[in-house]
Amino acid sequence: MIRFICKNCGKVLDLEDKIYQKAYKDHELCLDCRPGRGGFREGAGRPAIGMTKKVSITLPKEIWGKIEKEKGKSSMSAFLRDILVDWEEKRQ
Ligand SMILES: [Zn+2]
Repeated sequence: MIRFICKNCGKVLDLEDKIYQKAYKDHELCLDCRPGRGGFREGAGRPAIGMTKKVSITLPKEIWGKIEKEKGKSSMSAFLRDILVDWEEKRQ
């Protein structure tokens, strides 16, 4: 069994190796969160939530500690996305 955690919805799946290799390897999203049918293809369909940009952020250890505590079981990306979407809505 291989554990797969969706980076979008946070769903945790315990998968048979065969299924993992076929449908989940090299993916960050579960089937429900992938755009279109028949799996994700670059440029095909619309992404479920938008564009992905990779960032690295340096923060004091105490702040990371607070973030870890506050986010609970959410993924880091889901937690930060909520904050940023909120920020963007408020500044309009
Ligand atoms: Zn998902």
